[in-house]
Amino acid sequence: MIITTNPYTQKKIQQYSFLKDEELNLKLNTAQKSYKNWKNTSFKEREQLGIKLKELMLSRKESLANLISTEMGKPITQCLAEVVKTSTLVDYFTSNTANFLKNIDLDENTYVSYHPTGAVFGIMPWNFPLWQVFRYAFPNIIAGNVCLLKHAPNVTGCAIAIQQLFEDAGYPKHVFTNLIIDIPQVEQVIAHNVVQGVCLTGSTKAGSSVAALAGKYLKKSVLELGGTDASIIMEDADFDTALTSAFDSRTANSGQVCIAAKRIFVPKNKLEYAIAFFKQKIADLKQGNPLEESTQIGPISKAEFLPILQNQVEKTIKNGAELIVGGKIKEPFYETTLLVVNKENSMLKEEIFGPVICVIPYENTDTLIEEVNNSEYGLGTAIWTKNIGKAKSLAEKIEAGYVSINFKVTSDPKFPFGGIKKSGYGKELGEHGLKTFLNAKTNTIA
Ligand code: NAP
Repeated sequence: MIITTNPYTQKKIQQYSFLKDEELNLKLNTAQKSYKNWKNTSFKEREQLGIKLKELMLSRKESLANLISTEMGKPITQCLAEVVKTSTLVDYFTSNTANFLKNIDLDENTYVSYHPTGAVFGIMPWNFPLWQVFRYAFPNIIAGNVCLLKHAPNVTGCAIAIQQLFEDAGYPKHVFTNLIIDIPQVEQVIAHNVVQGVCLTGSTKAGSSVAALAGKYLKKSVLELGGTDASIIMEDADFDTALTSAFDSRTANSGQVCIAAKRIFVPKNKLEYAIAFFKQKIADLKQGNPLEESTQIGPISKAEFLPILQNQVEKTIKNGAELIVGGKIKEPFYETTLLVVNKENSMLKEEIFGPVICVIPYENTDTLIEEVNNSEYGLGTAIWTKNIGKAKSLAEKIEAGYVSINFKVTSDPKFPFGGIKKSGYGKELGEHGLKTFLNAKTNTIA
């Protein structure tokens, strides 16, 4: 059984029962039937549904944002921004998929054509409950696949609302199916014939077990996992812009963002400036009820994460970091925390999923990239400098799926998104991501 709880009030919202195995099997068989019809619909039909879906999503903007905020505690203004961003994804793939999936001529007699393959099963986290789901589901659906979802239990209401959106926009039933299931039932889904791909966004631990199951049943997988992203601020950067961006990146969604600036590298001679800047920013940050428009930072999404965060901060300090501000649980919040962290601190290798700003002073730019790459993760890195040539040559050497210069690392429907190393493999979004779970068929005529 799932019980959802409002992380701010700590009050129960709803309870849900897991599907019984036979009910799950019925849903999987129905998705199989639905796929047989859906894959034969025209792009025109799918585009019209995409337009309706986007309009419906925007017309439900307030209620969707409210639901997200109530279930996982994100400030309402950020929830509204998530809904609007998700609608741009729907718009982008509605407008471009037919073009992206045109046949490609390889020579006079040979061309490649793109075809749907079946159902794509998404296992999703709670931190962007709408965006993460649409990121894997919408490009697949408009390309002719159907989608199954196992959402994070604390955002089950969001999962139900997403299925409702598809149905109310006029999609045939079971083109998108929400499955309220427990972890042991994940294997039953992956094993089913209709499932041809699995996408997991979540922790490295969950990614590793889902990849093992995907391997067992020979299903293709994409893993979007954690990170310890760096923000490198060079001596000649526009300092206030860079620090503001790093601060926003690290405190948005209470620091519960995979691509947050988790390691902020600043030149040693600018350390005092950066500390004073962040201290002021923290003092100005309005923490409170996430449903109030003025709130900038909300509670931690699950109460059980609070002692984990506390333990990680204490370990970082024990390993030589200096605590400047914060460092304590204030239920249901974790204080926005500022640490100056020594570059050899082993905690820099761990993902800290909360509002903990880690500033790492550096002296030598020659060894900087080595320090940045000294991580088991490789999601995204931001570089701040006026010297674009220098930034591009640093970018070449950075081990990450994404490098942004003078801009915070972000995801965009147009660009492929996905990490390397323990941040996962495969891409979502952009033309690259769209084609992941399609069959690129070679056709040759003698
Ligand atoms: P999580 O505990 O791994 O959960 C993510 C999803 O995986 C949930 O639906 C969860 O279900 C499921 N899951 C967990 N263990 C599983 C297993 N053994 N088999 C099958 N499914 C399993 O992660 P989280 O705490 O929700 O999210 C935070 C993590 O996600 C962070 O590491 C963050 O960096 C990462 N993340 C990455 C991206 C990206 O794009 N790269 C984006 C957002 C978040 P249950 O809750 O039922 O266990």
